Amino acid sequence: MTLISFDGTLLKWNSALSALLGYDHNELLTPSSSVRTLLSQIREIAELGRSLSSLNIHPHRFQQNYYQPTGHLLSLEISISIISDANGAPLYYFAQFENKTINKHMENQLQEAEQNLQEKEKSFLQLLEGLPLTVVITANGIIQYVNSAGLQLIHAESLYQVLGTSTNNIVDFSNYSILQERRERYYSGNTIGSVCYLINCLNGQQKYVDGFTLPIIFNGNMAFIGIFKDISQQILEEERLIQSEKLSTAGQLAAGIAHEIRNPLTAINGFMKLLRSSERMNDKYFFIIESELKRIEFIVNELLVLSKPQTTHISKPVDLLSLLEQVTTLMNGQAALKNLKILPVCADQPIWIHGEAYQLKQVFINLLKNAMEAMHHGGNIYIHVHTTESGSRISVQDEGCGMTEEQIKALGKPFYTTKETGTGLGFMITQNIVHNHGGAITIESVPEQGTTFTVTIPTILEPEVAAV
Ligand code: ADP
Ligand code: MG
Repeated sequence: MTLISFDGTLLKWNSALSALLGYDHNELLTPSSSVRTLLSQIREIAELGRSLSSLNIHPHRFQQNYYQPTGHLLSLEISISIISDANGAPLYYFAQFENKTINKHMENQLQEAEQNLQEKEKSFLQLLEGLPLTVVITANGIIQYVNSAGLQLIHAESLYQVLGTSTNNIVDFSNYSILQERRERYYSGNTIGSVCYLINCLNGQQKYVDGFTLPIIFNGNMAFIGIFKDISQQILEEERLIQSEKLSTAGQLAAGIAHEIRNPLTAINGFMKLLRSSERMNDKYFFIIESELKRIEFIVNELLVLSKPQTTHISKPVDLLSLLEQVTTLMNGQAALKNLKILPVCADQPIWIHGEAYQLKQVFINLLKNAMEAMHHGGNIYIHVHTTESGSRISVQDEGCGMTEEQIKALGKPFYTTKETGTGLGFMITQNIVHNHGGAITIESVPEQGTTFTVTIPTILEPEVAAV
């Protein structure tokens, strides 16, 4: 602080002021030009204040920049008031200085940071708008933002059609449990990976999307950002491919099945003739006719199921051994035509796995079909089952042409086939099904000797209600 005369001369000052201005106490007796400039600025402003005659009552406060002798710029807040004598006659100015440089500096930085943030937010939103992927931001299950690719995906004309609505309006009812589970996983601190949803567009169309979500802060609140890709076309293609492979399998099995059906039909025919010629009813004949008809029914049903697109996927406990038996029954006809024998599994305990029976059947149909197609001169196909505590190992071993290292590597790539009428999809589908059941497939093969495919799959305890 200091006392300044009305003509702008420093009368008295404390050491805090001289230090602030960058001088020794006595150096201010003959002020430098920069101090003189400061004083004249103070006087000018003070006189302005005096003319408004407010200084007597309120100190006048203002900001003033000042360069110290070292060149360091200070931002000073100066407040001036007038000291008067006992009669109220003004004597001199009383000035107080406060160094606001740091505040000023921080204020500048804050402003800059805010501006940066705004720019970043703007370019972030611009980036999202430009993305060809769907971007959606939700908070508490309510839609906060959708980019233009997303609006297009769900056939919305403007953002306002979806803003503030629940994600439950978009995600199909059948996927609510996935949605719920992911929310719970997040709140319990677990990571949430990628996800596939069936969604309902505003025009009633249904689409499949695949993507992932991440927690973010949006408008200062905890939110989720989801990035999704439309995979409807891809899923349609996949379904078509699987269907074509199924139809081709069904077609190829048809010859063997016709053969398999002919035998019981011959038997039935024979017994019918016998019945017609015999006077009395014979229970034994009826029993044989009945069981042969059941066999035909079973085989035809299996063939139909195999060629039908599978729309519902329901996992249940499945008895692996009876499943293998059913598959071998289906395949025996084809094997007999090629002079092959499928040697049945011998196991005394039922083996339970959790899965989809028809999909699992497809696994073994594909493996057996490949085995049969690899054997050109008759022979045996062995099915071995080995169970441990954690799971079951089922191997299908053939005495066929075997595979080279390169062939093994190429196996599982879609459309890889060495057969004239092959689709090259069988193994890929087989592998997918096994993986979806938490299992794995390994291959051992020796060219000219044969191949063994081994499926390992987790088992479960014997269930109370069985499916197969
Ligand atoms: P496809 O049977 O339609 O050719 P797959 O995906 O079932 O398609 O099999 C791909 C290829 O793998 C077959 O073309 C064949 O070359 C080879 N392969 C599969 N299983 C066997 C096997 N048991 N023995 C020899 N080669 C096999
Ligand atoms: Mg095949």
